[in-house]
Formats: sequence, structure tokens, C-alpha cells
Amino acid sequence: MRSFNHAYIDGEFVPVQGGEVVQIINPANEKIIGTATLANRQDAKRAIAAAFRAQSALGRTTKTERIDMLKRLQSAVLARTDEIRDVTIEEYGGPFSRAKWVSQYVSQCFANTAEVLERYDLTRRIGTADVVMEPVGVAALIVPWNSVAGTMCSKLASAIAAGCASVIKPSEFSPLQTQVVAEALHEAGLPAGIFNILLGRGGDVGDELSTNPDVAKISFTGSTQTGKIIARAGVETMKRVSLALTGKSASLLLDDADFPSAIPLVLGAAFLNNGQACVAGTRLLVPRARQAEAIDLVRENVAAMRVGDPGDPATTIGPLATQAQYERIQRFIHLGLEEGATLVTGGKGHPQGFDAGYFVKPTVFSGVRNDMTIAREEIFGPVLSIIAYEDEDEAIHIANESIYGLHAYVFSSQSDRARRVASRLEAGTVLINRVSTDLLAPFGGVKQSGIGRENGVFGLEAFLEAKAIVTA
Ligand code: NAD
Repeated sequence: MRSFNHAYIDGEFVPVQGGEVVQIINPANEKIIGTATLANRQDAKRAIAAAFRAQSALGRTTKTERIDMLKRLQSAVLARTDEIRDVTIEEYGGPFSRAKWVSQYVSQCFANTAEVLERYDLTRRIGTADVVMEPVGVAALIVPWNSVAGTMCSKLASAIAAGCASVIKPSEFSPLQTQVVAEALHEAGLPAGIFNILLGRGGDVGDELSTNPDVAKISFTGSTQTGKIIARAGVETMKRVSLALTGKSASLLLDDADFPSAIPLVLGAAFLNNGQACVAGTRLLVPRARQAEAIDLVRENVAAMRVGDPGDPATTIGPLATQAQYERIQRFIHLGLEEGATLVTGGKGHPQGFDAGYFVKPTVFSGVRNDMTIAREEIFGPVLSIIAYEDEDEAIHIANESIYGLHAYVFSSQSDRARRVASRLEAGTVLINRVSTDLLAPFGGVKQSGIGRENGVFGLEAFLEAKAIVTA
């Protein structure tokens, strides 16, 4: 049984003043594996004050000094790669392959950002002005439970590259992952206060970060619903706000696609991270004339997936992260049936043989219309909706007929055609015949999937403010 009751403030682990204790439950067996005491608003104020004190010195550091800090952070998290992988599996049931990827990504994102900063001009001449790209100030980095280590580190990398001190607030559902990442980052030996980390509820710690006048920037990843609350709260002190939010992405299977090779990719995108991924391709658009073939292949591929122990590299789908997530998925499957969709595979309840753990059956519906709840709302579990279309125009129309616009996936055997379709899709990222993006490319959403971009140059600029100096 592990117990955490510390926050990382001003370069050290200090006891939190908050009193709420939460249990940490292994979602694969529902056993309590630890407890954590959450930080409260007072702790948040302390963390903000520490970041504020560190800001002016950090803001004056040179590019070389920041690159050095990023490299130290990279080595520090690299040393804990396996541990980060293991707690990701243990705390929220991330399947081995995904958890392994995340554990490697966390060091890679510091390396990538160092490379971006190396090539970036922090000063430039525009007309008669000298334009200086300055750090925006203290940043609050707010992180969801479904992508803890990766989001903490990628936001921190951009903040440090820009010269912004930060307060990181991971989700209150991720004490184990937060602790291991915090310990690793501490090992880098950066000056105190440059980054501070505390676990707390959105209603107090999150609210303090969104309203405190000493916070200049919020970089938030989470649901659209929370993003709206944060944006409203932040505008009072005119905080710069970047929001990476909810998705309901479409996979467009064009009629010339090679279905046997595309369907496994489609399912990989739909069920990524047990379906708990903002970028999940949860609407599969298939040409009506080839629908039967697509459904057969989907059924066959899902049947071959192994649901089970997330620590086993052969497992495709592990448990959902929490009991609440399990219940949410049941509710959506129920809604799908009630609204008249046809069950291709899966359905309600636990898969056979699973008495403990938040396991659900990977579920696919066909005969889905785009106005059904399961096609409109983010489900956040392994549930895929197949929607038939008549022609390319209709496929594009259906894909775009969503309030969200994070990712889109296009499968076609003609690259010109796929690119033409991509140019008409309303999404921050379009992936053609693949399901993973380029980590230096901008990442973010259009419409209600977000504001702003992360990663690479765009991620760096989200923490910078342009100052024009014009002399007589
Ligand atoms: P959430 O919105 O419930 O919480 C996200 C974070 O915000 C948590 O740290 C939470 O404590 C905090 N928070 C909650 N209320 C707050 C408030 N009033 N003020 C400040 N902070 C507050 O989201 P979640 O359930 O943790 O994560 C799942 C959601 O995140 C999904 O919708 C998913 O699509 C989205 N997501 C988006 C991306 C992306 O890059 N676009 C990536 C991962 C997850």
C-alpha cells in the first residue's frame, strides 16, 4: 500500500495542506493499491508563488541555458522509462504497448523541443521593428487522467523552452504516475520553482490556477466542458489560453481503399488506449456498396483481439480506468441499442470470464446515423460506430458534421484523392493510411476540439509573446 501526501513546490516535496484522501485502485482487479492526499487552494497559491518567484530569472535565460535544462530533463525521465510504463499500466490500465510508447515519448518530447528551440529565432527584424519573442509568464499546465506522463512532459518542455515557470496540475485520478514523473523531473536538478507539481480537484486547485492574477497562461488538456469553464475564468485576468479538448474523429474508408490492410489500422485508431484517447477514430465511414465486406473484416479483427491483463504485451484492450468510466461506456452501449443501431460485436456487460476489473467488451455498431448520440458524443471507451455513405461528398459531409474537429483518418489507394479529401476535412490533423502523427507537427483541434496548437514550433509559440521594439 503506497501513500502520497506531498506536492512538489519550490524544488522540494512538501506535505500538502489539503485534507481530502482518495484511494488508488488498480482497474484490472479493483484492488486498492494506495491513497493520496489531494492539495487544496492554499497549496496552489504556494505553488503559484514559487513559480512567480522563479519566473524573472528563467525569463532571462539564454537559448543555450534552456536547451541544457531540456536535455537534463530528457536524461532524468529517460532513466525512469520502465517505471513510468509500469505505473501507467498499474494505475489506469493502459495496455502495455501504449504505456511503453508513452514512457518513451516523455523523454523524446524534451529532445524534440530542444531541437525546435535550437532552430527557432527568438528575435527577428520585421520592417523597422526588432521583434523579441518573450516568455508569456507563469503557466498553469492542466492535465487529464488519460494521458498523464506524456501531457505533463510535453507541456513542460514547451514552457521551459519559452522561459515560462509553471505549475502542473495532473488529474486527481493519477497519483502514482504523477509521483514517478515528479521524482524523475526533480532528479534533473533545475533551479527551484521553475516547475511545481500538485494533485488536486478542478474546483479548488484548478480554479485557483484559472483565476490567480499571477498566472499568465493556461495550457489545458481535457474535456470541452471543463475547457469552457477554464476559458471563462481565465478571461477575467486576460490569461492566454490553449485548450486541447474532446474529439469525435472520423475514419473515412474510401471505396478504393484496401480494406484488409485498412481495417486493422481503423480499429487501432478506434480502440487506442482502450478507447480512452482524444484522437480515437470512433466513427467509421464506409461506402454503402462495400459495407458488408467492411463489417465482416471488423468482426473478424475484433474477434482476434485479446482483452485482458494490460501488463501482457499480447493484450490489445485492458480495463477502463475507473468504475465511472465503466458505467459511462455501459450507458452509451445501451443508448446505441435504444436508438436502433445494430450490434456487430460486443455489447453490454463484462467480457466472459472477467469477474473483477473494469473490463468492457470491444463494441461495434453498424447502421449508425450521424444524428445518433453514439455518433455525436465522445464515448471514451472501445465503442466504434459504422456509418454508411453513398459517395465521397457525403462522406466528407458526415465527417465534418460534428461540433468537434480533432483528428480525421483517410484510407485510400490513391494519394492525390486522399489529399483532396484531407483538404476538405475540418480537423486539426488528418492522417492518410496511417494512425500515428508526426511529433513535431502541430497538434490540436478546430471547432470545439480546442484553441491553439501544441508540439513543435507551434507548441513553443503558445508560450511566447511578441514584443516590438521600434527605435527613432
Ligand atoms: P476533465 O476535463 O474532467 O479534466 C481535465 C483536467 O482538468 C483534470 O486535471 C481536472 O482536475 C481539471 N479540472 C476539472 N475541472 C476544472 C476546473 N473547473 N478548473 C480547472 N481545472 C479543472 O477531463 P478528463 O476526464 O480528465 O480527460 C478526458 C477528456 O480529455 C476527454 O474529453 C478527452 O478527449 C480530453 N483529452 C483531450 C486531449 C487533446 O489533446 N485534445 C488529450 C487527452 C484528453
